[in-house]
Amino acid sequence: MKKFQVAILGGGGAGLTASLYTSRANLSTVLFEKLTPGGQIAVTDLVENYPGFPEGVLGPDIAMKMEEQAKKYGTVIEYQEVKKILSASQGGFSLETAGGEFRADSVILATGASFRMLGVPGERELTGKGVSYCATCDGAFFKGKNVLVVGGGDSALQEGIFLTRFATRVTVVHRRDKLRASPILQQRAKENPKIDFIWDTAVEKIEGQGKVQRAQLKNLKSGHESEFPVDGVFIFIGHDPNSAFLKGFVDLDEKGYVKSDGSVKTNVPGVFAAGEIRAGATKQLVAACGEGCEAALAAQEFLEHV
Ligand SMILES: Cc1cc2nc3c(=O)[nH]c(=O)nc-3n(C[C@H](O)[C@H](O)[C@H](O)COP(=O)(O)OP(=O)(O)OC[C@H]3O[C@@H](n4cnc5c(N)ncnc54)[C@H](O)[C@@H]3O)c2cc1C
Repeated sequence: MKKFQVAILGGGGAGLTASLYTSRANLSTVLFEKLTPGGQIAVTDLVENYPGFPEGVLGPDIAMKMEEQAKKYGTVIEYQEVKKILSASQGGFSLETAGGEFRADSVILATGASFRMLGVPGERELTGKGVSYCATCDGAFFKGKNVLVVGGGDSALQEGIFLTRFATRVTVVHRRDKLRASPILQQRAKENPKIDFIWDTAVEKIEGQGKVQRAQLKNLKSGHESEFPVDGVFIFIGHDPNSAFLKGFVDLDEKGYVKSDGSVKTNVPGVFAAGEIRAGATKQLVAACGEGCEAALAAQEFLEHV
């Protein structure tokens, strides 16, 4: 069984920043990542609002650099999922992974959030066959094709604009008659000649023989139903917290986000929450990194007193 002073769960912006701070402070640090280091930002195209990059920075590039920086100061990265976490009877915490048990004196929860599914017929069957949740990963498959983008927030517009590099036409379908996205993205999307909008409308079904061929749409005001021929459906309707395995270990809010004292402390002494997993977090990379730093300093202070 391996033992560390700090265990960080999740290798997104929050977790990688926390690990940079704790390992640079000479605390033995293990970071667990079940998929790709970088988390959500690793599947984002251009990030224009991370300070220090006036030309913007590609999401995968910043993710790689953050991982490299954390490793440089001694963070041990375990590429596996933490399945369970318990307070150990002799103090500290016990973490269960497929690679065995780990022990840590303090824990930083930074498991972020995962995309939400629409939950309509055809979605699951056609995922990877035209249904996608990642424009950066799949956009290039849609050269010269028509795609739907579902959603009305920043991600939907940002990724919709990105898709116009490949697709002939990008149609944004939104349940309301107003977008939630920031004004600058709204303006860019509305001025883009390849982007159309369908308002007050929901996708009811996605259909096709082995690949997406059409979507069934319903106008939520008139009830009118229509068939929309399309080659791809990109879904950006929000995220849910990656916290199922934390139930019973720390207090979660009704949506499953980790409750904190308003800062990064949870109800369990020695356990901190940073980034999108934390209830009330600002869902931006710079904020996740800021919280990662704060959690690392809080863990450091906690360890000075145990
Ligand atoms: C399409 C898109 C575009 C975006 N564009 C921008 C932008 O332009 N600017 C901006 O500031 N923000 C943007 N964001 C938001 C930003 O990416 C997030 O707010 C930020 O990355 C959150 O970081 P995080 O570390 O809290 O969580 P995440 O990035 O979600 O990372 C959490 C990590 O934890 C891992 N994990 C989960 N559970 C476990 C477990 N049990 N064991 C081990 N590992 C686990 C996950 O695999 C993931 O890698 C965008 C997001 C998306 C989806």
